[in-house]
Amino acid sequence: MKRELESAMTLCAPGPHTFLLVIQLGRFTEQERGVMEKLNELLHSNVNLYTLVLFTYGDKLKSKTIDQFVQEDKILLKLIDSCSGLYHVLDNTDNESKAQVSELLDKIDMYEQQSPYEEIRIVLLGKTGVGKSAAGNTLLGEEAFESKISASSVTQDCWKVTRKVNGKKVAIIDTPGLFDPSLILEEAVNRIKLCVPLSAPGPHAFLLVVQPGRFTQEDRQAVEIFLKIFGEGARNYSVVLFTHGDKLGKKNIQEFVSECPDLVRVLKQINNQHHVFNNESKEATQVDELLKKISLMVARNGGRWYTNQMLEMAERAIEEETRRLLKEREDQSGRLRESLRQEALLEAQKDLLCLREKEAREQAEKNNKYITIIAQILWEIFEKFIIKKLENKS
Ligand code: GDP
Ligand code: MG
Repeated sequence: MKRELESAMTLCAPGPHTFLLVIQLGRFTEQERGVMEKLNELLHSNVNLYTLVLFTYGDKLKSKTIDQFVQEDKILLKLIDSCSGLYHVLDNTDNESKAQVSELLDKIDMYEQQSPYEEIRIVLLGKTGVGKSAAGNTLLGEEAFESKISASSVTQDCWKVTRKVNGKKVAIIDTPGLFDPSLILEEAVNRIKLCVPLSAPGPHAFLLVVQPGRFTQEDRQAVEIFLKIFGEGARNYSVVLFTHGDKLGKKNIQEFVSECPDLVRVLKQINNQHHVFNNESKEATQVDELLKKISLMVARNGGRWYTNQMLEMAERAIEEETRRLLKEREDQSGRLRESLRQEALLEAQKDLLCLREKEAREQAEKNNKYITIIAQILWEIFEKFIIKKLENKS
């Protein structure tokens, strides 16, 4: 199959514009489910990004539209989402209808010229040392940001560089690292937030930069903090960018991710959008593919970007949550105080009871002692009386 694919690719020299994944309407089988992964693997590329799903047997739709049909099938939706997001239906029994063909060609055309955006603005986020600045340099194809091994962040403030990449204007905003020893968390967060006004009117994509071999508890927290700072709204604009692709060895990134439940959870939160960079390599396809993924994400977001209002909303949500947590803690400490008071009261009561019991016991013991002494005296008197009586008799 690999050889056949390669010969198909040669026939399309210098390379195909689009792949059509042909699926018979109503017959999406287990075998076809893995087809995209197989193609990606065989061609060592993200073929899915250039793939349009083409349904045949359109006559079987009857009164339904293809949109209705697709919306009702979650697995199909997922497949389309993992591809270019475009699909079309053909009724091959209707040779007369030229419209269905020209519509398909229009869609391919639309996809081809899919760069209605004058500029793509991308923010790099991540812990210190994960390779944010290096990824910025890989994207721009030059050493625009200072990237080096350092315990504390080389980038102390947000920094923006704009260049033309593949004929498209790309603005990269590098940010200070989270958990930087030289910045307290609050200060780092405040500085990172400035990336939004710096990418005015707003970034199209947040790249959450992660170093694969080292996804620690702190890395998980870093992603969570980003999603908190920028709010729920940021999820549709986020892509996890794995750096150090050169260190993955024989493993592919899917295998790597599946071994780390924390990463699986993180990726789930952001519609599984991810990409791998080897910042040591100058290979251009890794950049092309990432830009393609971002373009598709922008298309899915209706061309919109993340805005300052979304950040303000996230800030309000954080404030509200802080207030709620404080109140909860206050209630809890009130409840704790009350339960401690109750406990202290019970203890005091217990002590009192013990004391009373002890006193009563001591009193009883004392009384007992008196009775014994009196009984003894009485006995002695009685004894003497009896002895006297006996002596008188004798
Ligand atoms: P930042 O603090 O997140 O901006 O991290 P840097 O971009 O400064 O990178 C920290 C170190 O990691 C530098 O020495 C980089 O050369 C190295 N680095 C970054 N990405 C990669 C990568 O993909 N592969 C390898 N081998 N090293 C990388
Ligand atoms: Mg840096």
